[in-house]
Amino acid sequence: MSNITNAVVWICSKFSSQQVEAIVTELSAILKDANSRFGPRDKFKEEHPNYRDFAPDPTEPLTEPTKKNQKDYKLILQEYEQIHNKAISPVNCKSPQLVVPKDVTCPHCNAPHQYIYFNNGKKRTQLKCKVCAQTFQLCKPLRKSKAKYYCPHCGHALFQWKHHFLVTTYKCSDDNCPYRIKRLNQLKPSEMMIQKMKPSQFKINYQYREYHLKPIQIQHAAPAIPGKEIVDIFKIRKPDNILGLALTFYISFALSARKTALIIRWFFGEKCSYQTVLNYAKAVAHYAHRFNLKNKGDIDAISVGDETYIKIGGEFDYVWFYLSANKRSITAYHLADNRGTIPAVAATNEAIRTADIDQNITLVTDGNPSYIEAIQFLNKDRPKEHKIKHIQVIGLQNNDDVSEEFRPFKQIIERFNRTYKHHIKPAAGFNCFDGAMALTTLFVTYYNFLRPHATLNFKPPLHIAQLDNIKTIQAKWLKLISMMY
Ligand SMILES: [Zn+2]
Ligand SMILES: [Zn+2]
Repeated sequence: MSNITNAVVWICSKFSSQQVEAIVTELSAILKDANSRFGPRDKFKEEHPNYRDFAPDPTEPLTEPTKKNQKDYKLILQEYEQIHNKAISPVNCKSPQLVVPKDVTCPHCNAPHQYIYFNNGKKRTQLKCKVCAQTFQLCKPLRKSKAKYYCPHCGHALFQWKHHFLVTTYKCSDDNCPYRIKRLNQLKPSEMMIQKMKPSQFKINYQYREYHLKPIQIQHAAPAIPGKEIVDIFKIRKPDNILGLALTFYISFALSARKTALIIRWFFGEKCSYQTVLNYAKAVAHYAHRFNLKNKGDIDAISVGDETYIKIGGEFDYVWFYLSANKRSITAYHLADNRGTIPAVAATNEAIRTADIDQNITLVTDGNPSYIEAIQFLNKDRPKEHKIKHIQVIGLQNNDDVSEEFRPFKQIIERFNRTYKHHIKPAAGFNCFDGAMALTTLFVTYYNFLRPHATLNFKPPLHIAQLDNIKTIQAKWLKLISMMY
């Protein structure tokens, strides 16, 4: 029997026909989604890992050309004299026609006109400097490079390769660029062959993508403003504790909305439908979001970020989390339909919003290249001495010292992701973005302000003094809500 027949037999022996149907639906959804995180094994890609593979280089481009000959003529004269025991003599010009005008200086080393002569005789167009031996034109001042960026590896001007309203790509075209040579050497022999025929399929030259993002495009996701159809939580007529109970079971105990409604009806004898629970959650989420962002406090020197997938309407979406490493508080929880640079900027921007202006920030993430571009984008406006430091912990094993040192931070967020998954599991996939955003927001409120944390001496990551003397969790929820308005 082939492997595939074996797998089919195994599936049939383990799952009911309903479950098998669900497996088929899931698998065909994965096949249709080109951007799915769980694409099937790609044998070609495994054998040709560099094919169509683009990873942004974390080294930022230069904004000034590097000067190749920066030595001043005085220094060159001095050095010459030391080595040769005689000075470079000024130009001895025999014909008055060939005297160089007094205002001419060498653009390369600043040598005055005495050291400059016409290099092409009577044509009198090209000049040569006797000190640095470089040539230049008489009429044309040295053309100032119009390039915006220069390659950090070879100093070559980057040319604008592609332009889109969201992003402009600049590329280094120098064939001898050390970055290009290093990338070329990494290609496997079979990839070398393909590269010769289809060079465009291999991203081997240094590239820099400059994003043009407006504040609105990088706004942190937020729950919807409750509409008229959603009950106004501050005017709830029912006994107050129903709201507190609903959040206690639905959020703190991670029960489904149906079970929550059932508990409220059976244990507390109050009228409550699962829709009431969802409406409460949506209404509170809007205020809770503002409260979360306002009260998240400052951040530690190290923050950890990761994105985890959830399902909304059968499609994969991603929640981008950041945690402050020591406090364990959640500092960003952006929701988006992709793992690209724009949501990475939105999440990272919020994660560092409350840092001190002169704080040194280190962010630890996985190998998703979106973080590199996001941090480059945010670093553009930061002073040189306070650029965000980025550590990527890649793979499952420690292949380098950096990964070994920072892996514990990555484990913090991986454990956290499991907690989050546990809390959203009863929702069994969301119908809509608003539902996912509401539950995620309330989870963050619970996690940051209410949930006892074993490594924090069973205290929540963020302390709210007003909750200190309140004994029950439902009463704490109600107190928090009263503070949100
Ligand atoms: Zn010169
Ligand atoms: Zn280069």
